[in-house]
Amino acid sequence: MVTISKKKFKQSFETKMYSLYAQPIKDATNEQLLSVLCCVIKDIIAKRWIETNIDKEKEVYYFCIEFLLGRQLKSNLLNLDIEDSIRDGLKELGIELDDLINAETDPALGNGGLGRLAACFLDSMASLKINGHGYGIRYQNGLFEQKFVNGYQVEVPDNWLSQGAYFWETVRPNKAIVVKFEGEIELVKDNDRLKVKHKNYIPVMAMPYDIPIIGYHNDTINTLRLWKSEIQSRDFGQNTSNAKNYSGSYEDALAYKYYAEEISQVLYPNDSNYAGRLLRLKQEYFFTSAGIQDIIRKYRRTKQDIKSLQNKVAIHINDTHPTLCIPELMRILLDEEGLSWEEAWKITTNTISYTNHTIMAEAMEKWPIDMIKTLLPRIYMIIEEINRRYNLYLDDKYNDENKKQHMRIINWDNVNMANLCIVGSHSINGVAALHTKLLKKEVLRDFYEDKPEKFNNKTNGIAHRRWLMSSNPELSDLITDLIGDKWKKDTTRLKDLEKYKLNTSVLNRLDEIKHHNKEHLADFINNTYNVQVNPNSIFDVQIKRLHAYKRQLLNILNILDLYHELLENPNFDMQPRTFIFGAKAAPGYYLAKCIIKFINSVADKINNDPRVNEKIKIIFVENYGVSLAEKIIPAANIGEQISTTTKEASGTSNMKLMMNGAITLATLDGANVEIFEQVGEDNIILFGLSAQQVLDYNKYGGYSALDLYQSNRRIKRVVDDLINGFIPNMDSEGREIYNSLITYNDEYFVLRDMENYSEAQAKINKLYQRKEQWNRMSLMNIANSGIFSTDRTISEYAKDIWFKGCEINEKYIKL
Ligand SMILES: *Cc1c(COP(=O)(O)O)cnc(C)c1O
Repeated sequence: MVTISKKKFKQSFETKMYSLYAQPIKDATNEQLLSVLCCVIKDIIAKRWIETNIDKEKEVYYFCIEFLLGRQLKSNLLNLDIEDSIRDGLKELGIELDDLINAETDPALGNGGLGRLAACFLDSMASLKINGHGYGIRYQNGLFEQKFVNGYQVEVPDNWLSQGAYFWETVRPNKAIVVKFEGEIELVKDNDRLKVKHKNYIPVMAMPYDIPIIGYHNDTINTLRLWKSEIQSRDFGQNTSNAKNYSGSYEDALAYKYYAEEISQVLYPNDSNYAGRLLRLKQEYFFTSAGIQDIIRKYRRTKQDIKSLQNKVAIHINDTHPTLCIPELMRILLDEEGLSWEEAWKITTNTISYTNHTIMAEAMEKWPIDMIKTLLPRIYMIIEEINRRYNLYLDDKYNDENKKQHMRIINWDNVNMANLCIVGSHSINGVAALHTKLLKKEVLRDFYEDKPEKFNNKTNGIAHRRWLMSSNPELSDLITDLIGDKWKKDTTRLKDLEKYKLNTSVLNRLDEIKHHNKEHLADFINNTYNVQVNPNSIFDVQIKRLHAYKRQLLNILNILDLYHELLENPNFDMQPRTFIFGAKAAPGYYLAKCIIKFINSVADKINNDPRVNEKIKIIFVENYGVSLAEKIIPAANIGEQISTTTKEASGTSNMKLMMNGAITLATLDGANVEIFEQVGEDNIILFGLSAQQVLDYNKYGGYSALDLYQSNRRIKRVVDDLINGFIPNMDSEGREIYNSLITYNDEYFVLRDMENYSEAQAKINKLYQRKEQWNRMSLMNIANSGIFSTDRTISEYAKDIWFKGCEINEKYIKL
């Protein structure tokens, strides 16, 4: 294992400070100190980083259009096991480690669950010693910074590189790759073969920025390679023979610069709604082409036969954004390696696997063929040929036109990316048991019936090192005191905690720790928002992107209902509650923004009403992201997982919260189903429609929100609050929400689940008063959270997908 003594560390730190900044330590800013510390750590790991990248066995390449890493310093120190010596060394130099930890920027290169999952996967791949690397985009601006102004979400551009650099990254100009856009394709006869010539294309340089991904106590250091788009410098104002419509003028040079740099300029701030945008398509090809070219370049250097690629390389497509990996790999195998179609197709499909992340129709990517054809002429030809051959297969096998229509890759002048992924890969997985079942039985049924062996489930997880060990050290230490530290490498051992479920002193310790965490969060809230919250109140937490299907609306309408009950009956039995929300809305998602305004307006009213504000407080944290999640989750008593059943593919905040001892309040949706199976009905609070009921409503109708509204006094009361001025200053937003519920018949069954939800909340109110029982539930949640570590998820990917049939698979089967 790499390591460093305190003495050596202090020396290196001072030397680096002089060479980087030519100043004494006492003059340095926290940012400078942090940059020096990052350099010292990179020096410590440099040799191991290089050695890990000398490929010995099969490598996994994980393509994802977002990686939501979170701050790296603390987790790197934890994984390297050098936190203590560094903390002490810094202290002797007069520096507080925690100040540097907090000085790090939190790169928001992802929207939410998808990007965070990819980050947790990198952590687990390294910790399981898998040579697994990430490929993504180095966005100049990540997800916008959210501010609230008069309760409205305002989006400020995220400027995570404002410090001039990201201290963990290493740029590698010698590994840059050219990605070609637009132009024309010419097929030239060359002896017996057709040679493909791409003329008049626009070259864009993909510049790799590498971030080390450090395994836990194991010397493995993998790489997250993020590509930045740049001009190909020799073409800037000089050799412009390739660029279309390029006269060599200054204006053209600028236009070219803009064209190239725009591609990695900004993260598309939407992870669920489909909107066709040329720029997004450029981004998708940009990073998949760079990644695939990079993989093949590295493979060629090993001098192995290209036909054995699948033995050395596994390529994983996370959701459909990297779909173009499939035609891009085909392009290289056909045009550069000169393989036949059949050979190339076999290698491609055996190398690539795909994870589906949603069943929501509007989030299924489809691209107009004209757009692909113009932007990526050669890629389009290949997609067309994949489609042509697949259609022959379908026509041969099926008569049902409807079914075939549904399965075609090109349909209605669109390329259906999910269909291309399914046809072009050897494994398709969903992300929780219910999600995979719905894929098989509903959304992808025809594909499943055609090739059932390709389909499998891989329930998501979370990196317990970040989400428990690093963010909740007190709880982590208690667990180790009770059951030893083997759980850190094998989280199923958390189960050993169950033997303390009747041990009052352990339950009290658990309660104390939760209370400490709540005090810390209360201080933070007080300092940041100037709102006093009571650490003895129930901390009820809903943190996730704002989307109608996640139903923050259900939560806030129930809070309004409680408010009315308290006003009508001041003796109403209610434990004090602090409702905590954290959520960003996509900038163009008007309803979601109305809901933000609504929550903020209700918060404003209730928090300032002395008749109730000892009982209810509502905190909507600004700019929710990984760092805030790390503060909030250890302090949560309740995790709200209240999506419309069938809509949440998995969810992962549910796992983070349970692992930190929160009780899950949930519909039986996504991975909540598995949480329920793990903890049993005594340790989770369930409510709401079943998946079957939702499917039936969607298929046969029969739900009337208006009827409910008219017949249920309490529902009517809170729905009317949207439009009757009771909550001030939200006429048009209130009307918008009202219409979504009443006029458009409540697509997400908010009102349908309302009564049931309110009962579940009342049950929690009672349970919390039986403190020992509550603490026992909390303990049972922690004890049964082990299977939700991404170590489990990744070992399943390894043995069932990436290394299936490989010798080294042995290693993962044993995990
Ligand atoms: C875990 C996480 C998510 C995912 O939350 P869900 O409730 O599963 O949607 C989103 N954002 C951040 C910052 C996270 O850490």
